[in-house]
Amino acid sequence: MTFVSMTEMLQCARKENYAVGQFNINGLLWVQAILQAAEETRSPVILAASDRMIEYLGGFATIASMVKAVKEELEITVPVALHLDHGTSFSRCVQAIDAGFSSVMYDGSHLPIQDNIANTQKVTSYAHAHGVSVEAEVGSVGGMEDGLVGGIRYADQSECERLVREAGVDALAPALGSVHGKYQGEPVLGFKEMEAIAEAVRIPLVLHGASGIPLPQLKRAIELGHAKVNYNTELVTAWTEAVRAVLEENPSLCEPRAIMMPAKEALVAIVKEKINKLGSAGKA
Ligand SMILES: [Zn+2]
Repeated sequence: MTFVSMTEMLQCARKENYAVGQFNINGLLWVQAILQAAEETRSPVILAASDRMIEYLGGFATIASMVKAVKEELEITVPVALHLDHGTSFSRCVQAIDAGFSSVMYDGSHLPIQDNIANTQKVTSYAHAHGVSVEAEVGSVGGMEDGLVGGIRYADQSECERLVREAGVDALAPALGSVHGKYQGEPVLGFKEMEAIAEAVRIPLVLHGASGIPLPQLKRAIELGHAKVNYNTELVTAWTEAVRAVLEENPSLCEPRAIMMPAKEALVAIVKEKINKLGSAGKA
């Protein structure tokens, strides 16, 4: 199989107390950089495309074909999941699955819990029939990213339990103080709630907005049940800083490859750094 679902990946991670990184892609170089970093560190990896970026990236089929082709071209041997991040509807999840994505997130966190569960249930039954894993969210991750805006709202434990039981998801993102984009001040994660929710739902948890969370808090979140950790902001920042530095140092430079290669190298470096922090290096 080209891509694996994230179910087994995350269950292994949970058992062995590490986490698998989800890295969002923003084009071809990102796919090459993330896959190279995962292969060189022997780590399982989740490549994700945010629903709000799908058209920019060329559509579901383009993304699935591109990642598959790069994976073959680079002779990648570590397990790779291709995941839809923050899927906005049942039909968007279906389009991703039909195009070859091996994992989807349905994000109904802004809806009343009843509707979130009902929609997630529909996604799960279609996804599981195709061997595809499903992530859902309860509560609200704060901040702003790729046009996704939210205020922090802590996940309610009984809602988490209901969603996992009734919708049968494979991974749960309980929002507990994390933020998409840049943090204003020190992140404050609800570890007490995290522990209780992990104990109650007994499936791997997902940490959104991990960029900017200090290592001790990240390690604590992994100990308390997080098996998937999502990175976007820190990659985007590293890429942008590299491109800006090249252009500032060489204002007359007019060669796309020379402009972009340092950014690709910056991505490889930061993905490797994250993989090492999450403890997934050598686990593939
Ligand atoms: Zn997110």
